[in-house]
Amino acid sequence: MIRTRAPVPFTAAADAIVAAGRWLDRRGWAPGGGGNYSHRLDDGTLAITASGTHKGRIEAADVMRITPDGTPLDPARPSDETLLHCQIYRLFPQANAVLHSHGTASLILARARPEALAIRLAGWELLKAFPGITTHDTAVALPVVDNDQDMVRLSARIEPQLLAQPAPPAYVIRDHGVYGWGRSMDEAARVVETVEYLLGLELGLIQLGANR
Ligand SMILES: [Zn+2]
Repeated sequence: MIRTRAPVPFTAAADAIVAAGRWLDRRGWAPGGGGNYSHRLDDGTLAITASGTHKGRIEAADVMRITPDGTPLDPARPSDETLLHCQIYRLFPQANAVLHSHGTASLILARARPEALAIRLAGWELLKAFPGITTHDTAVALPVVDNDQDMVRLSARIEPQLLAQPAPPAYVIRDHGVYGWGRSMDEAARVVETVEYLLGLELGLIQLGANR
């Protein structure tokens, strides 16, 4: 994983996005080449993966620049989910990188609980991997929102949960995947890895019939 102290110039952001995409693909969190990744740039714009790129074979040329509201600054078409990235940067000024994973645990858990507005993670040591958490003796509510191909509608629906305090480190789109962010690409990667890991534990408990 390439370390970034962000915001960064475009070339550094593109390198970090390429490294993150290949890492997510190796972890099995970008099946079918899906996912989209972004980084805040030092000129106030954003770098994001172009639409349709296979994330296991991603190259710097697959990364493009957009304005903070998602308008392309390069000829390519940005990811279909660009608006969700823009929303995270708008709501969390400290966020400099956003990653989107498609691991299986979040999908199974959120589908199994169709009414749930959040997945509660409590008591796990690895909660300390989330920014600002210093003890296992706490709980984090990961917001869950229904999937939608209309990103304006989806982002409007998730926004109140993103503004809740304490702010969540990530959220789940039902039947779709996880969005996580951080002050650097490293931190965003740690958040996504932790979410996928902890949701895997929650899923394992349910499979065992443990009382949750
Ligand atoms: Zn997606």
